[in-house]
Amino acid sequence: MSDLSSHQWRKLRDRVLAEESVCWLCGLPIRFDAPPCSTYSPSVDHIIPRDERPDLTYDRDNCRAAHFGCNSGRRERDPVPMRKSRYW
Ligand SMILES: [Zn+2]
Repeated sequence: MSDLSSHQWRKLRDRVLAEESVCWLCGLPIRFDAPPCSTYSPSVDHIIPRDERPDLTYDRDNCRAAHFGCNSGRRERDPVPMRKSRYW
């Protein structure tokens, strides 16, 4: 599995954030002065999730700048139906 702490990823992430300054999920500007891992702080999202296409992890065209909050929120409300039963 690809590693997002790698040098290769950091380089790509820096490049995406240098080229894009608007969150592709909500359309609002990314706050580059926000504290790390806060709602409006910069992060880089994968259009096709890494678990679907791990080979596209380092593909520039599969990466978009996004707020940290929008990025993690997207993962939580993934439209894929949950298969875990919660009827108990
Ligand atoms: Zn956003």
